[in-house]
Amino acid sequence: MSIQNLIRPIIKALKPYSSARDEFQGATDNMVFLDANENPFENGVNRYPDPHQRTLKAMLSEIKHVSTKNILLGNGSDEVLDLIFRAFCEPNQDNILILPPTYGMYEVLANLNAISIKAINLDEAFQPKLDAILNAADSNSKLLFICSPNNPSGNSFNTKVIEELVSKFKGIVVIDEAYIDFSNEMSWISKLNTYPNLIVTQTLSKAYAMAGIRLGICYASKEIIRVLNTIKPPYNINELTQKKAIELLSINDLALNQIQDILKERDLMISELESINFIFKIYPSDANFVLVKVDDANKRYNQLIEKGIVIRNRTTQPGCENTLRLTVGTAQENKTLLSTLKTL
Ligand SMILES: *Cc1c(COP(=O)(O)O)cnc(C)c1O
Repeated sequence: MSIQNLIRPIIKALKPYSSARDEFQGATDNMVFLDANENPFENGVNRYPDPHQRTLKAMLSEIKHVSTKNILLGNGSDEVLDLIFRAFCEPNQDNILILPPTYGMYEVLANLNAISIKAINLDEAFQPKLDAILNAADSNSKLLFICSPNNPSGNSFNTKVIEELVSKFKGIVVIDEAYIDFSNEMSWISKLNTYPNLIVTQTLSKAYAMAGIRLGICYASKEIIRVLNTIKPPYNINELTQKKAIELLSINDLALNQIQDILKERDLMISELESINFIFKIYPSDANFVLVKVDDANKRYNQLIEKGIVIRNRTTQPGCENTLRLTVGTAQENKTLLSTLKTL
């Protein structure tokens, strides 16, 4: 498969904006920087941030066992996903494939970029329908979004089915691994060299406890990363975000311990939810949330709001009638949820 043939002609012809910090890279000790019209008085943020986020990428490279050349960072996954649309999808011409119920941003970004959507619903077990997906694809189908573990259902998709999709789909396959750190499944990062059309996205927003700094991560072939680098805003990751990510990633044990705590709490939560008489089904979860089917999702949602507990009502999503999505919180928060559910 030639990635070059998938890139929009207008993007292939682009020259990236060359920022001041691009034109000179080198030793920083004792250098005098008079190139970017910055205010020279140091306050921690008076200089432009590193446009290539070298230190942060080096840390991610070590944690995830992947070369820095295979990494692109974005202002949240949202920016990463938007860059992918802009690189590969011709407005008013191309289409994407999504597998509902799924993460809402794929549809939002498709609409924003004037790209049509082919939706192939997951089956009753929330697994992708391989043949239906491949049959739905046409020569303008540029992106296939696979969210695994899936939001809002919580389950991971069958590895063999994903493998078939990645090897048979003729466009780019984006595997959204926002919840992979809660799962025992392998990350598809390890298959980047096998599948040139594979893009894996992750985020610091969930397991790594940094939703507030907005840092999304894209892993792909050097060829794809080069294209996305050409079109990203030069200083898309601000200095505060880079500093905070470096600080918290350097105590990586912290996140790993928190993930273990969250998983323990999730299993406890699931066993307690089984005793709630209006919960009919608890879906298997590979993530830090649990989807449950109840008697009347709107009613239960409103009852919880009245008690000061906010969960997510997913009842309008395909295949999710009367479902609620519960994020696993602290032990105390989960206790509050469970005791409140018992009183309803
Ligand atoms: C939460 C979430 C993200 C994270 O998005 P950010 O913009 O990085 O915070 C991405 N994909 C899915 C499926 C999610 O649930």
